[in-house]
Amino acid sequence: MNYCSNCAAPVEHMVPEGDDRPRYVCHACGLVHYQNPRLVVGCIPVWEDKILLCLRDIEPRRGKWTLPAGYLENGETVMAGAQRETREETGATVSRLEPYLLFDIAHINQLYLMFRARLDSPGFHRTKESAQVRLFGEKEIPWNEIAFPAIEKTLQIYLADRADGVFPFQIHPILEKMKRN
Ligand code: ZN
Repeated sequence: MNYCSNCAAPVEHMVPEGDDRPRYVCHACGLVHYQNPRLVVGCIPVWEDKILLCLRDIEPRRGKWTLPAGYLENGETVMAGAQRETREETGATVSRLEPYLLFDIAHINQLYLMFRARLDSPGFHRTKESAQVRLFGEKEIPWNEIAFPAIEKTLQIYLADRADGVFPFQIHPILEKMKRN
């Protein structure tokens, strides 16, 4: 950030008095720009024993498979956000949402909140954001083509819990991947 979002004066990256970490501070109008993690909300849409995945047609990770998920909007509840993202990315409507997984992705300042959800009908279609949308059985999941670590982990945990028949709410960290040569 270079300029104040309130008055357009240049900002300084500094620790404000009484604070313990650097913020973007505007000396012209006094505004401190606090920046906090963003929340991604999404669903595991299920029809019978199959899971709905979408093939991303947008960057990042275009051409990789994912669960429907995206940033929560201001003024929106987490459940409505997860349903909206599912509708936008898969054309499907979901209900009976159950809060299920929360991922702390501290190194990119994000949280993911994933719900379990039921498709209202097996109706879905490709969308502006998804080149393909389809149901996958457990044995068909394209593990090497999943877009994001949090989504891969969601699918792993869901399938393990499903085998056990219980779906306790869980919080997991997603750690930065070690750089490989
Ligand atoms: Zn300002």
